[in-house]
Amino acid sequence: MMDAATARSYTGRFAPSPTGALHAGSLVAALASWLDARAHGGRWLVRIEDVDTPRCMPGADQVILGQLAICGLLPDEKPLYQSRRGSAYAAALDQLHALRLTYPCGCTRREIEDALVALGILHERFEERVYPGTCRAGLFGRAARATRVLTLCGGMESVVSWVDRRLGAQQQNVTREVGDFVLHRADGLWAYQLAVVVDDAAQGVTDVVRGEDLADNTPRQIHLQRLLGLPQPRYLHTPLVLGADGHKLSKQNGAKPLDASNPLAALQIAATTLALPTIEAGSVGEWLGAAVRAWAQRWVA
Ligand code: GLU
Repeated sequence: MMDAATARSYTGRFAPSPTGALHAGSLVAALASWLDARAHGGRWLVRIEDVDTPRCMPGADQVILGQLAICGLLPDEKPLYQSRRGSAYAAALDQLHALRLTYPCGCTRREIEDALVALGILHERFEERVYPGTCRAGLFGRAARATRVLTLCGGMESVVSWVDRRLGAQQQNVTREVGDFVLHRADGLWAYQLAVVVDDAAQGVTDVVRGEDLADNTPRQIHLQRLLGLPQPRYLHTPLVLGADGHKLSKQNGAKPLDASNPLAALQIAATTLALPTIEAGSVGEWLGAAVRAWAQRWVA
């Protein structure tokens, strides 16, 4: 059983991007983060990650909060909206700037590709390319363009090692595998990597429980936490629900909004993805109580 000090010191969160309603895949992350918080006797927060405003769907935040409520997943505080957090992100950027760890970049995609080809290192990492560092030396002829702000990965290679509660020991050479990355976009929007790190620290998040597709982002976030002097939360990345095309379930590959008329069935499907046993219960409250006990047996030391 959790002692009182541990219980008080746990804060978890679910951080949906309001690009649409919750579906079977996003419910897994919501449920896992809620179960872990409750199994630790801790707090559970919801953060609406609406920084990428063009991708957000008006009203989706309320739909998500309503779906969570139907599933009995109620946050302990009012949700935090990233769209209202610009000054906190700007302060973090200033801090990195003062440490000379940022620089503006005005390269086009084409220029980045050409530079990589010239260097013979066209390295594709999913859709992203490792930035060749052209603007580190200055903007020169690119000064009149809208610029984005990148952070330096460091002159020496930044190797981040961390232990995921489910995936075990992980390591990434951020310099080689990711390269300098964007913190503030040329269109004025804040990058997810910066926003998530600033907000996890501001909300006192001790434990991040989220889908495995984001495990690859964790080293960048740990790297930023170190540069900004922020505490590093513990991480647990959950299994993904896959769509018919074998990729993470999303609206694009057929995810349907959760069926609000049957929350127990939706919760049980999410629990099965999380390798929890089948739980017989007559109400959402009873089901969640049993699920917390099953989660605690597996994940709480
Ligand atoms: N907003 C992100 C998403 O919906 C999740 C971010 C996180 O949990 O760190 O994919």
